Amino acid sequence: MNFKELGLTDQICATLKGLGYENPTPIQTQAIPHVLKHSDIFGVAQTGTGKTAAFALPIIQLLHAGNSRNNNIKALVLAPTRELAIQIDESFRDYSKGLGIRHTVIFGGVSQHNQTNTLRRGVDVLIATPGRLLDLMQQGFVKLNHIQYFVLDEADRMLDMGFINDIRKVIAKLPTKTPDGIQRQTLFFSATTTPEISVLADTLLRNPVKVSVTPVSTPAETVNQAVYYVDKDNKRSLLKHVIQDKQIHHALVFTRTKRGADRVAKELTKNGIAAEAIHGDKSQNARVRALEGFKKRKINVLVATDIAARGIDIDDLSFVINYEIPELAETYVHRIGRTGRAGKNGVALSFCCDEESAYMRDIKKLIKKEIEIVNNHPFPNLQPNTTERGPVPSNKKKSGSNNNKARRFGKKQKVK
Ligand code: AMP
Repeated sequence: MNFKELGLTDQICATLKGLGYENPTPIQTQAIPHVLKHSDIFGVAQTGTGKTAAFALPIIQLLHAGNSRNNNIKALVLAPTRELAIQIDESFRDYSKGLGIRHTVIFGGVSQHNQTNTLRRGVDVLIATPGRLLDLMQQGFVKLNHIQYFVLDEADRMLDMGFINDIRKVIAKLPTKTPDGIQRQTLFFSATTTPEISVLADTLLRNPVKVSVTPVSTPAETVNQAVYYVDKDNKRSLLKHVIQDKQIHHALVFTRTKRGADRVAKELTKNGIAAEAIHGDKSQNARVRALEGFKKRKINVLVATDIAARGIDIDDLSFVINYEIPELAETYVHRIGRTGRAGKNGVALSFCCDEESAYMRDIKKLIKKEIEIVNNHPFPNLQPNTTERGPVPSNKKKSGSNNNKARRFGKKQKVK
């Protein structure tokens, strides 16, 4: 299937060619024809799958065909974070080149002046984060009664960030039909489907077509992977050691929990390593500051939870460190996919303690690849049989830091 066969116009196809898009991604192949036929969509896909184009391209085409030149907002895209909202706005800019579609993005934490000026001049597509949208709705700058296309992006992250009440308030103002009798079309995207997500989707969608893309299972060949077996209590010391030993100046470190992310960032800072944590409990401003500091390399280590890190695009990231091993093997693949992009080399290091060895085994199964074990570090733990055993009962005596074990296994081994 090419873009033309999905029903996109020659002009849009030419724009995509100009952007270097040769073929549609699976989510685009599945979603675009249905959106063009005015169906509601329940899309299960993560950032990085091309889902922005999956909703933006058909909306642009439908808006262009609708040819209604007026100042009413016709499409609303709700996104959880400022970074994602900006990325979506840039996609609308790129994809709608030459079609005269007016779009803008609004988010909190900055003056509303420029945003309200643009809104006064009239836009067709509004991309917004929930808080600023509600604020400008209350002030009368945004009216939703002409919305024909509503996109809720990263719904699971919205809920994780505590936006459910804001979302409900926005939904309450959406028309089922515009004053011109046009039925509203809703496109709902989430990376995961939980009961809470299904309830939210049910309140919004009419006979939706469900589209989903299977999670990626193959890490890029350009990512060198290695695992350190280590006692849980020694992970902090190991992280400091690895950062200093390998002279790492720019690394994304993943933890499983928000509190864990805070703890790791604090510990690194205490040790003179510039680090910040980002997660759902941090304010929008704090997250943006941390991310910008990291991109500009004022911060060496960004510690993130999986949900907070989604959608973050960092060029030239050479190190990803899994401070904790994710429970889902697919998450590992997503995490390490942050590095080794665009043909560049990247390194993904994982710190695995006893209770995580079963997760490591699942990862190895999914990626069908050997992972190098690093033994020459000061905080070794038992391995390599660890990869084949399940979680260790809590009453099992834990091994301490023991260099003899490291010697026993030599310098480097492969997971069998
Ligand atoms: P998204 O999941 O929407 O954040 O997209 C991830 C990245 O893939 C973005 O940098 C897009 O520009 C890019 N992209 C989206 N669709 C395609 C495509 N069909 N071919 C090549 N790149 C694409």
